[in-house]
Amino acid sequence: MSTYGIDLGTTYSCIATLDNNGNPEVVRNQVDASDTLASVVYFESSDNVVIGASAKDMIETDGDRVVQFVKREIGKPDAHTYEFDGKTYTPVEISSLILKRLKQMVEEQGGNVDDVVITCPAYFGLEERNATKKAGELAGLHVLNLINEPTAAALSYCARQFQEERTILVYDLGGGTFDVTIVKMSQVLNDEGNEVQKVTVVATGGNDKLGGKDWDDKLFEYIIQVCCDENGLTPLEIDAETRQIIRSRVEIAKKKLSTSESTKVKINVNGSMTNIVITRDEFEQLTSNLVAQTMNYVEEVIKNANNPNIDMVLLVGGSTYMPMIHDTVEKRFPQKVQLHDPDRAVAMGAAIYASMLVEENMLEISSSENGLTSSTIKKGKFSIEDQTPRSFGPGVYDENEQYVIDNIIKMGVSMPAKSVQTYYTPEDNMPKIILRVFENMSMDETLIPCVNEQGKSQECNVADNVKLLGDLEMALPVATKKNTPIEVTFKVDALGVYVKAKNVYNGEAVETTLHMDSDIDVKRSCVNLVKVSAE
Ligand code: ADP
Ligand code: MG
Repeated sequence: MSTYGIDLGTTYSCIATLDNNGNPEVVRNQVDASDTLASVVYFESSDNVVIGASAKDMIETDGDRVVQFVKREIGKPDAHTYEFDGKTYTPVEISSLILKRLKQMVEEQGGNVDDVVITCPAYFGLEERNATKKAGELAGLHVLNLINEPTAAALSYCARQFQEERTILVYDLGGGTFDVTIVKMSQVLNDEGNEVQKVTVVATGGNDKLGGKDWDDKLFEYIIQVCCDENGLTPLEIDAETRQIIRSRVEIAKKKLSTSESTKVKINVNGSMTNIVITRDEFEQLTSNLVAQTMNYVEEVIKNANNPNIDMVLLVGGSTYMPMIHDTVEKRFPQKVQLHDPDRAVAMGAAIYASMLVEENMLEISSSENGLTSSTIKKGKFSIEDQTPRSFGPGVYDENEQYVIDNIIKMGVSMPAKSVQTYYTPEDNMPKIILRVFENMSMDETLIPCVNEQGKSQECNVADNVKLLGDLEMALPVATKKNTPIEVTFKVDALGVYVKAKNVYNGEAVETTLHMDSDIDVKRSCVNLVKVSAE
């Protein structure tokens, strides 16, 4: 099988495929003896780049040449670039190195990666999605599609278990991010009249700066404090080297506490050995406030989804191995919590989706878990329906001649989403129109963009997160009259925005699928349409 699902994570990544029986399985990272690959890149020298656990180990001693958490920057307008040995790397290029390493892991075991589905957070906007896809292509992968991480997790779960209608809350606590998503699984009839399983993202939230690393930090501070108390020092007197040693131990200690009631850490402080015993109880007290924070996001998302009845909670992300997470979530949702393959479920769900996209034949996925009878789901029985992560619309003049974004596709509608709207030319004899395409996070019908029609900055609501995605230019015939109707079509799917403008009088049309990497010349003075005909 050459079809794979990839979870390109902030701290750990994972690649999975379906075995001969159609069961998802993770491709092991043999070098690190792990199912996952640390998303860390170490630029050791101009001809040696190391990815994974050994790169992570270098944070201590050669941190300036190590790049991590690059997912936080992918597709962001203010992303860093990194320079090593005279070469510059963008976040897309760094991500592609991680993806290349995953591909190599498969090849080292005799496999071959052709088609892939890569996962991304449900809240990623179009630029982040395009950048993720580009990283895949740069790594030599054929990216069939992207899928939202919580959807993949739900898919990986329900492909094994059930086929009835359910509302699932996905609680995903990873290394650096916390995502909570409500997905609805339902059965619908498709165009051919067959029953298919539909996965719909209902609401999403979380914090992209809250994750396992914060638990590490708490433990780190605690150990520093004990070292100080035992040796009569202040935290500033603990030297950098000792701090780095402590830093390298905390994640291991944290993981140990997921299965043991206590763990020991030995630290040499200024020549004297300090033995620290940490119990799980102590650790849970240190970090209870972090757990509480995640639950606040859970409540917020439930509220945003209009308080649905939650049938099941899926715990996803390596940090949900911590018993305190399971216990807290279980308390809130008694008997609803499922913990299964938290650090692998996303990649496995992506593998299921990838195979659904390429397999012509019916494929049976069966599995028996916890002694339950095996359930079988046939390929073609799933239709994935995610929501638009943003609102989209063209820049046009409204009735008051104010240049606005006309939000014709709203955030949160089912993808693929399509909207057709007719606008009008505002003057006689316009040689062309330039239709600007915007993405934003507003639910308003119209809003004011941060850049006016002349490309100058203007006052706007920063929280709307308005981004100009690109533009579409269409020449108009000589002597085109004022109020000529122009039909504008927007289509949004997981991979991009398709825009078409059609001159209703002569049928001429131009279309484009926006590529975020193209330079957008916002200074070009633009000729726009009006929302309402002046007649
Ligand atoms: P990502 O954030 O990249 O999606 P993961 O879902 O793999 O990553 O989560 C990684 C986080 O999970 C790290 O902070 C790691 O320390 C933590 N983690 C992994 N295994 C355990 C465990 N057994 N106990 C506690 N934390 C764990
Ligand atoms: Mg993850």
